[in-house]
Amino acid sequence: MIPISSVAIGTEEEELVLQVLRSGRLAQGPMVEKLESEFRAWSDAEHVIAVSNGTVSLVAALEALQLPRGTEVVTSPFTFVATVNAILEAGLVVRFGDIDPADFALTPESVEAAVTERTSAVMPVHLYGQAADMTRLMPLAEARGLAVVEDAAQAHGAKIDGRRVGSFGVGSFSLYATKNLMSGEGGLVTTNDAAVADRLRLIRNQGMRARYQYELAGHNFRMTELQAAVALPQLSRLEAGTKRRVENARRLTEGLAGIPGLVLPAVAEGREHVWHQYTVRITEESGTTREKVADRLTESGVGSGFYYPRPVYDYDCYRDHPGVIVEDHPVTERVSREVISLPVHPALSDGDVDTVVRAVRGALDVD
Ligand SMILES: *Cc1c(COP(=O)(O)O)cnc(C)c1O
Repeated sequence: MIPISSVAIGTEEEELVLQVLRSGRLAQGPMVEKLESEFRAWSDAEHVIAVSNGTVSLVAALEALQLPRGTEVVTSPFTFVATVNAILEAGLVVRFGDIDPADFALTPESVEAAVTERTSAVMPVHLYGQAADMTRLMPLAEARGLAVVEDAAQAHGAKIDGRRVGSFGVGSFSLYATKNLMSGEGGLVTTNDAAVADRLRLIRNQGMRARYQYELAGHNFRMTELQAAVALPQLSRLEAGTKRRVENARRLTEGLAGIPGLVLPAVAEGREHVWHQYTVRITEESGTTREKVADRLTESGVGSGFYYPRPVYDYDCYRDHPGVIVEDHPVTERVSREVISLPVHPALSDGDVDTVVRAVRGALDVD
């Protein structure tokens, strides 16, 4: 079976974890600081704050911006549920824009239409490893005085016009086990604003500036030394892993081009995709459905996934939620029924990628 994702852990991680265990210092300490400084050097952001997971990194980012309680955050309805849960957790209201089927991310036009006098922030999601259209979203946010939080959980290293995501607004990265950079669980917040960075450090550690000196009502969002010990060697292998993902994506696109009813993922002009997922759309023209394609792939020993099978609001717990405003989002409605992601991770050999190509062609009954 070729799995949809794979977790690769080397001897460096084993040795660093042992070193931490033997040091007796397990909670946030020097290893976490090292991860922050190495991620800062690698990123285009000036400050990096490590936290316990990607969801709380979104919560911390929203809280650090001091958005008035009950104001609205405009985000994508085509995302993992954490995006919505984080906004609610921060005491804010969720309003959605709609996506462009070309990059699966928020369109500036839909954000424009969703903004009201109660809007305080925009939260684009860089889905599957491709940056949202920050070139147009940033001036729009600036003109309306809106804060920007980037959900970059799936897009470590993705660029737009040569600049890495997470350096436009306040950036939020996940280090969950299957993400491009991982520590099992973990999160990183990035910002170029020193005051926001200062508040993030307080929020992470009970609002505490120094021992028993509390400056705000905070949380325990701290990362452990064990998490950082897993993340550090992963970070040094991230560029090589991304290169391999890019090569695998290129090979998939070459092998799958020109099939009616199969829409391949595109990289928008000026963007560098890091291929967290290689997501195709099975449209009506194919004469089949993505569910049938997934079944055929399983029979051929190829894993796949629906990310995400429904718009994020399409569950009773959100449709009936006072903090979630649901309007018409037709592109997300359609695209969420068509998407299927194929294996693209760095552990795949060229032969594996060719197996995926043959299996997809077979599932669509082409040669
Ligand atoms: C993974 C993910 C998150 C949440 O990260 P966790 O580390 O799992 O808490 C948030 N947003 C998106 C788009 C994600 O894919």
